[in-house]
Amino acid sequence: MNRAFLYFTAIVLVIVAAGLLFIGLAFLIVAAKSPGDLLPALAMLAVGGVLLGWSLGKLKALAAATPDNIDTQVDALAASHGGELTIAEVVGELGISQADAQGSLHRLVSRGVCRSEPRNGTEFYIFAGLKQTMKVKKCGYCGNVYPVAQAGRQCPSCGGNLDIVDQE
Ligand SMILES: [Zn+2]
Repeated sequence: MNRAFLYFTAIVLVIVAAGLLFIGLAFLIVAAKSPGDLLPALAMLAVGGVLLGWSLGKLKALAAATPDNIDTQVDALAASHGGELTIAEVVGELGISQADAQGSLHRLVSRGVCRSEPRNGTEFYIFAGLKQTMKVKKCGYCGNVYPVAQAGRQCPSCGGNLDIVDQE
């Protein structure tokens, strides 16, 4: 569904809800004299209140879901995921639709912010600028790799010199 239609629907629902609240209020005033009108008055106020809250929430969510806003959120999500995202992660963690997630990732690809890379049938989106490169200690002689926390500059297995390099 397109955004204009969703906006229109939400606004119509807000108006319907406001109408229900107004009529409910009118019934409530009448009910002061005819108690038989009390129940329908309360029912209309309750339904109107719930509908108003729900439709205003929808409007707020729609206003927040502008393409720019989504792109910013996707970018931030990529940063917290070490520079790699799938559409499923974007949908699941940002609570947006599949179409919105896909649209945002395509925009980011076309702007060169990230690139897509299929792996085992799943499309991964790689944000090169956000990818953290892990540093490791590597032996220049035998090629063994150790965590940076490894003490000393000598390879425990061959005694060669350890250099700090980017993990491959
Ligand atoms: Zn070594």
